[in-house]
Amino acid sequence: MTSYSPPGDGPFAIPTGLLIGAQWTAAASGATIAVDNPATGAVLTHVADGDAAAGIAAVDAAAAAAAAWAATPPRKRAEVLLACFHAMMAEHEWLAQLISLENGKALPDARGEVAYAAEFFRWYAEEAVRIPGELAGSPAGGNRIMVQYQPIGVALLITPWNFPAAMATRKIAPALAAGCTCILKPASETPLTALAIAEIMRRAGVPAGVVNVVTTSTPGPVCSAILHDPRVRKLSFTGSTQVGRVLLREAADQVISSSMELGGNAPFVVFDDADLDAAIDGAMIAKMRNAGEACTAANRFYVQRGIHDAFVARLVERMGALTVGAGTDPATQCGAMINRKAVDKIERLVADAVALGAEVRLGGKAPAGEGYFYPPSVIAGVQPGSEILREEVFGPVAAVVAFDTADEAVALANDTEYGLAAYVYSTDLGRALAIAERIECGMVAVNRGLVSDAAAPFGGMKQSGLGREGSHHGLIEYCEAKYIAVTW
Ligand code: NAP
Repeated sequence: MTSYSPPGDGPFAIPTGLLIGAQWTAAASGATIAVDNPATGAVLTHVADGDAAAGIAAVDAAAAAAAAWAATPPRKRAEVLLACFHAMMAEHEWLAQLISLENGKALPDARGEVAYAAEFFRWYAEEAVRIPGELAGSPAGGNRIMVQYQPIGVALLITPWNFPAAMATRKIAPALAAGCTCILKPASETPLTALAIAEIMRRAGVPAGVVNVVTTSTPGPVCSAILHDPRVRKLSFTGSTQVGRVLLREAADQVISSSMELGGNAPFVVFDDADLDAAIDGAMIAKMRNAGEACTAANRFYVQRGIHDAFVARLVERMGALTVGAGTDPATQCGAMINRKAVDKIERLVADAVALGAEVRLGGKAPAGEGYFYPPSVIAGVQPGSEILREEVFGPVAAVVAFDTADEAVALANDTEYGLAAYVYSTDLGRALAIAERIECGMVAVNRGLVSDAAAPFGGMKQSGLGREGSHHGLIEYCEAKYIAVTW
């Protein structure tokens, strides 16, 4: 089996095959997928290009391991997950370097991601022994209503490239805690992190077949084959709304339970009475974490007129001071975008906004040269109808619009098909909470720039998704509520 050793000391060479049951294997055809370094465009290595048969082989392995894993005592499952947490944290820096290398993000972002990702193992180790149950008397009397939460069965987990570690562990950990086995299909842009985590888990004691990994350049046919296998009972997807819609249709044929973590286009609402320093600090996190390549990234900045000019001036100053470069360079604060297509999309959205009357206050132009870079940018006076207010920019561009009244701010914030995250800044907590309740989205940060937390229910309304990850909600997504009517 082939493997890849990233620069620096690591615990093992990363297997670049398919993990099916106990074995790392090459694709039957011998085909491979190239993995690039976005900072240079150079190929780092190749991973196996699995086909539909590989997907079904992974279902075979997951199905074979399912009964034993479901019957493994929750305490034992918890111990395995806790071992995964410690094993992952022991390789914290190595994994962070790997994420920076294949994803392009700056090392501080990558280090933050490793800690966040590992936390799902610890959190779900703690949740595995707290799976709820219910017992009630029936209203009519005469019998009892007993509810058990049973593992739903084999799960297909599909993850994006922007958080290659955290999006994988946010699904694998609750699946395993609930007693499910799984097949992970990582993004083909960033498979190495997922492969490294799978090997860490294998070494930490996860039994063969409980976690299987299939990398592929043809996700449509491979995932379709998996979703049409009657042994598969769960789909959990994180990625674009566009692909989410396709997968919901695929899952419909076998009526597979589906959790969808989809796109976002978060509003960042700043009232006149906001603490400007705090709002700018929060904006820097909400906009620049992962260089804007986050589903929770603040994209649409709605700033009340009285504080607007000061806010824009300070944002330009802070974003303009960031060092852009290769993620693996310790000086870098804003890394590369994932690929050329991502840079082209940002350029298109900025050009459209400018054509409609927006003013570029910072950045606004991709540099020439190697790698896929876009500079931190601020565009102010963005006009209604601009594409950037409707489409996820997924890059380091803050689009700013002034508003006058609270009702106007709420209407602007809700004027989107998305409903994932939002940010509200005001020193009047009553007002901020009232606005938070009116914004149509799954998560609102009040006077802070970060919502992600393994202990919190993460997810969206409207076309940002279905279901929640993290917290006890995330575990229930992998359970079936079994009602037993009992007479005694
Ligand atoms: P994407 O293009 O939708 O891809 C996501 C995953 O789906 C990848 O593994 C991809 O494989 C796979 N895929 C693509 N087409 C498929 C198909 N027909 N059938 C099955 N799988 C398919 O999204 P992305 O560009 O990687 O990620 C960015 C998007 O994810 C953004 O919209 C972002 O907002 C969203 N996101 C949401 C959350 C959240 O929690 N709500 C978190 C992070 C990201 P390949 O890589 O091989 O194409």
